[in-house]
This record gives sequence, C-alpha cells and structure tokens, in this order.
Amino acid sequence: MHDHRRLGRDLGLFDTDPLIGAGLPYWQPDGAAVRHALEEYIRDAERRAGYRHVYSPVLGKRELYEISGHWSHYSDDMFPPMDVGGEQIVLRPSLCPHHAVIYRSRSHSYRELPLRMAELGGMYRAELSGVLGGLNRVRSIHLNDAHIFCTLDQVADEARAALEMIRRAYEALGIRPARLRLSLPGPGGKYVADPGKWRRSTALLTEVLDGCGLAYEAVEGEAAFYGPKIDVQVADGAGRESTLSTVQVDFHQPERFGLHYIGADGAKHRPVMVHRSVIGSVERAVAHLVEEHGGAFPAWLAPTQLVVLPVSEAQRPEAEVILRRCAELGLRAEMACPEHGSLGARVRAARLVPYQLVIGAKEAADGRVALRLRDGRRVDALPVEEVLARVRALTGAHRAELWGREPVPS
Ligand SMILES: [Zn+2]
Repeated sequence: MHDHRRLGRDLGLFDTDPLIGAGLPYWQPDGAAVRHALEEYIRDAERRAGYRHVYSPVLGKRELYEISGHWSHYSDDMFPPMDVGGEQIVLRPSLCPHHAVIYRSRSHSYRELPLRMAELGGMYRAELSGVLGGLNRVRSIHLNDAHIFCTLDQVADEARAALEMIRRAYEALGIRPARLRLSLPGPGGKYVADPGKWRRSTALLTEVLDGCGLAYEAVEGEAAFYGPKIDVQVADGAGRESTLSTVQVDFHQPERFGLHYIGADGAKHRPVMVHRSVIGSVERAVAHLVEEHGGAFPAWLAPTQLVVLPVSEAQRPEAEVILRRCAELGLRAEMACPEHGSLGARVRAARLVPYQLVIGAKEAADGRVALRLRDGRRVDALPVEEVLARVRALTGAHRAELWGREPVPS
C-alpha cells in the first residue's frame, strides 16, 4: 500500500508546513500539473454535459448560512465568524448557498431547466484532526461542485447522467469504486425536519439506483443535513473507505432561498436542487490517485508525460528540439541529460514517466526516437512527429492505455 503523504513529498507533489498550518497543504509544480490536468478534464466534461461555470467568493455573511441551514446544522464544522465593519463574515463550508443566490439573481423560465451550474471552488472546514502532510483531512478544500436546478420530473434523469459522468471519470482516472451507498438520515437533530421531503427525495434516489442495476447499500446517519445522497465510496490500501463522488437531492434549500421558475402555466414553481460532485475535492481525489497508482499516473495526468534521453552529449541539440516541440503541443516533457548518469540509470530514474524517448547517433541522423513505455514495452524507432502525435491523441482523449495497437486517433 502506498502512503500518499510520503509519496506526495517524495515525488514533489504537495506537502504541508507547520508555519502555514496543519490541514493546509501547498502544491509543488508537479502536483499543480496533476491538479490542473484533473481540473481541466472535469471542466471539459462538464461543458460537454451542458453545465455552465460560475465563480463565487469563499466568504459570505453569517446570514447566508442561517438561511441555508448550515448555521444551525453544520456550525461545528465551520470556522468562527470574523467581525468586519459590524458584519459577521464566514469562511464558507459549502458552495450551495452562493449558487442558490446566483440562481435567484435572475428570473428563470421552465424552458431553461435543467439549469446546471458548476464551480470548482474553495471551501473550509474547521477540522480538528488535520493530519499534517496529508490531503485526506484538510481545512482548505477545493470542491468539484455543481448544482442542477430542475423540475421534479427531471431529477431522476439528471441524477442518472451524473452517475454516468462519474463512471466515465473513474475509467479515465483508472480507479474503481469500492461500493455505492445510499446515505440516509439517522437519529438526532443533525437533519432538517420534514418527513415528507425526505420520503420523496429518498424514493427518487432509490428509483435511480434500482434502475441503473447497480449494487448499493443503504446506510443511516450519512445523509447531508438537507437531504439524502448517493455516495460513491473508494477504499485505500488498508480498506478504509471515504466518499469521493456524490449525487444529492435537495428540496430544502430551494425553499429556504425562495427559488422559483415560471412554468408553462405562467405561475411560479419551486425547482429542486440536485447537488453533485464527480471527483469530490481535488485534495481527496489526488490523495486517492497517488495511493492507487503509486505515482504512476495515467499518461494524461502525469506531471511529466515524456522524458527525452540523449544517449550522449552529441544528441543534445536534437533532444532540445523535441522538448520545444512538446511544449508547442501542450505535452509536459523533460530532458534527462547524460551528466545524470548512464542511460540505464536515467531510464530507472524516470520509471514513473509514461514515455521515454531515447535518441542515439543513429536515431538523431534520421529524425527518429527509440521509445520505451513505462510498462516495460519497447517500440521500434519511429519518426519523432509520429510519436508525439500519438501521445498527444491518447492523452488528449484521456485514454488509459499507454500505446495500444489501434491506429492513432485523429
Ligand atoms: Zn451543494
């Protein structure tokens, strides 16, 4: 089993410093490259699925969370408010209230629904157990979040589409869910009291899960305070589960914020809010990816996708040309120069890099490279442009395989 904290430091991805504080990780350039690739994948998948992106501030007035219900149901997990000019300002514990307010800022016709609003935004949790060096329990969280404002009739389709986005993302990321959980309320005052709404939203999610033919387990005491949810659980090497992805149905916040749309009948109707996250927080997603792949990320996600290895100093100019070409093509490449040791030692040092391009005198003379793949396969010398075009096509399509036998996708 890989410990993401140790690997994160060893691979130069992320770390924490006591001076910044526990549970407040920073990202090194290689970690930031992984995170950018992940965020770009998500935003692109969301755009294709009809989501529009917004930005909203990580702070809000205390009143906003009193209306949403966070203040009365969730304040144990929130940082204390800051007094600023006679107002109380709070670091947000979730993005939902901001999105509800953005929805409310304009009037909406039923023709605009389902209205899918997405943001990869910051939120904060007053974790007392912030594990130094880790990404799993952090105080500063960047959530891949979205809220779908829709009619009751549209909820099931939207939840199904969200589960399909999750399935595709896991395929691209090379990860597998441990199980699906239908998270229901438990005893105690943590949840908003409205039995009718809980029954309706639970029935909708149950219908979606049963219709998908996916195995799931209903667990009490794991719902959000405002509604039940489908949680996609992943497990670490020790079998400890955590929630990565989620789909939630919420009748509560639309009512609290007085949201409405104008129906075909010209009257005001209340929309339902579907909350969904495809990869959860980028912190937890990267922690899981590091543990799952031991640093050997899928090529599209790898901090360094190609390493160029000139056999001797004589091939350095050709290697530099390849590096510049990679940069033009948007590929992340580095050179492992001869002064860093024998070719074998440099190949071993680059063992996590998906593509190793070796140039000897013969390859340099005819514009080719010998290619070694991370999985140990070797490919006969090919023209440089052919190799780069194929790598670009495979990584651009977020494909899991390193090379394959099929023709280069265009
Ligand atoms: Zn939400």
